[in-house]
Amino acid sequence: MSKRDYYEILGVNRDASDAELKKAYRKLAMKHHPDRNPGNKDAEEHFKEAKQAYEVLSDADKRAAYDRYGHAGVDPSMGAGPGGQGFDGFSDAFSDIFGDIFSGGGGRGRSNVYRGADLRYNLEISLEEAARGAEKTIRIPTQENCEVCGGSGAKAGSQPKPCPTCGGAGQVRIQQGFFSIQQTCPKCHGSGSYIADPCRSCNGAGRIKKQKTLEVKIPAGIDDGMRLRHAGHGEPGINGGPSGDLYVEIHIKKHSVFQRDGDDLHCEMPINFATAALGGDIEIPTLDGMARIKVPPETQTGKVFRLRGKGIQNVRSHVQGDLMCHVLVETPVKLTERQRELLSEFNDIAMENADRQNPKAKSWMDKVKDFFQ
Ligand SMILES: [Zn+2]
Ligand SMILES: [Zn+2]
Repeated sequence: MSKRDYYEILGVNRDASDAELKKAYRKLAMKHHPDRNPGNKDAEEHFKEAKQAYEVLSDADKRAAYDRYGHAGVDPSMGAGPGGQGFDGFSDAFSDIFGDIFSGGGGRGRSNVYRGADLRYNLEISLEEAARGAEKTIRIPTQENCEVCGGSGAKAGSQPKPCPTCGGAGQVRIQQGFFSIQQTCPKCHGSGSYIADPCRSCNGAGRIKKQKTLEVKIPAGIDDGMRLRHAGHGEPGINGGPSGDLYVEIHIKKHSVFQRDGDDLHCEMPINFATAALGGDIEIPTLDGMARIKVPPETQTGKVFRLRGKGIQNVRSHVQGDLMCHVLVETPVKLTERQRELLSEFNDIAMENADRQNPKAKSWMDKVKDFFQ
């Protein structure tokens, strides 16, 4: 659905020279080559991705189109124009022209209007932000007119010349049997002009990539992997086509205290064994701050206390989830001499009443005895 930026894939700057592109590509190709990574799907994907990026950026025409239009300028699968035909204006002029003739769409008066590609933005947020909702400012790529050439794409002092293929008309007429068909010029894509001496700053694209900021409203209760669509914030369309969409994909950071399970939260609650035995008030954390709960006497480890409504609000139904506190009875460590004495004494009494005071141990011992009989 979304594609990574070709410069980013190769790890080079936008003004990288051909030699730099080649070097970056060779390095990636060596690293991810399928022969070196047999059976590794990830490596294969990286290899393909790098190959595709290099194929486009190493070709001056394709690179200029990419700089100008993004992926939509070079990727046949991105086309969404009239007739539903893929856009492949660079393979060569004839396949483009014949492609139109045989597409059955009539071809007459068709112009290459395409929707821009969709983009994905990975946004990492905290669990608290997911629970309460948040507003985030993100920076996304956009394209602006090049200041150096004023958007013409031609080097300072030079002008774009009329396109040699169409003579500046932006359209070409071809004869096919009895039919004469008007086509958008495959060389200049309808602009009618041709840049012999491209502007250095924008590589002749007339536009350069910039960053723009976008406010993202994150609804309370959003979960990991959910996507927020921002219509029209993807790559710009071609020849007046609509822009693609931006999808902000939410990733929630691991929390130090809570684990999330749907709308419920879980946390561990260590309590000392005296409190577990005698009962008492203890403090537990919630997303809204500390809360007190009453632990009844004779509480066992593994017991779960459910705090209703202290989980996360469902993003659609707005029903509040619960918080589950899992009791963990902790055996004390680093005992003092006095504690040892007291515990020994405690144990002596406990042994006398073992059957009554440790029912679990007793039933377990009974099973073990049965087993050995
Ligand atoms: Zn420029
Ligand atoms: Zn032309």
